[in-house]
Amino acid sequence: MASIFTKIISGKIPCYKVAENDDFFAFLDINPNAKGHTLVVPKKEVNRLFDLDEDTYSKLMEFSRKIAIALEKVVPCERIGMSVIGLEVPHVHVHLIPLNAMEDIQFKKKVSLAPEEFGKIAKLISEAL
Ligand code: 5GP
Repeated sequence: MASIFTKIISGKIPCYKVAENDDFFAFLDINPNAKGHTLVVPKKEVNRLFDLDEDTYSKLMEFSRKIAIALEKVVPCERIGMSVIGLEVPHVHVHLIPLNAMEDIQFKKKVSLAPEEFGKIAKLISEAL
């Protein structure tokens, strides 16, 4: 069965899209740790990060770096943190999270954003690429 992220990539489930190329897709996390929390996903559906082939793994990091640089231009923060977990969604994804404190990367404190705010941030990151 297709993962929820495959359904997002194919447009079956809506998202706040940030960027896309032939192999990767970036969109805002629906339950963000911080404003601008972005997920970067390979279109190829693989469960675990280190099961990716070397080329896809390297390109995922390259693509994530570009998104992180754009994200940092848009969301003022101390730095962008990166995390790969996958305990909830078994389809590889990189979390890019604007950080100001250690707790921002701990997935305990969440922020709620209005739909317009999600839309605005996704657009700003996309334009900063
Ligand atoms: P993980 O698998 O790394 O533990 O967490 C999965 C992440 O995906 C969570 O941060 C969660 O909020 C996010 N997520 C789960 N389902 C959806 C969805 O349908 N849309 C979006 N945008 N994010 C989702």
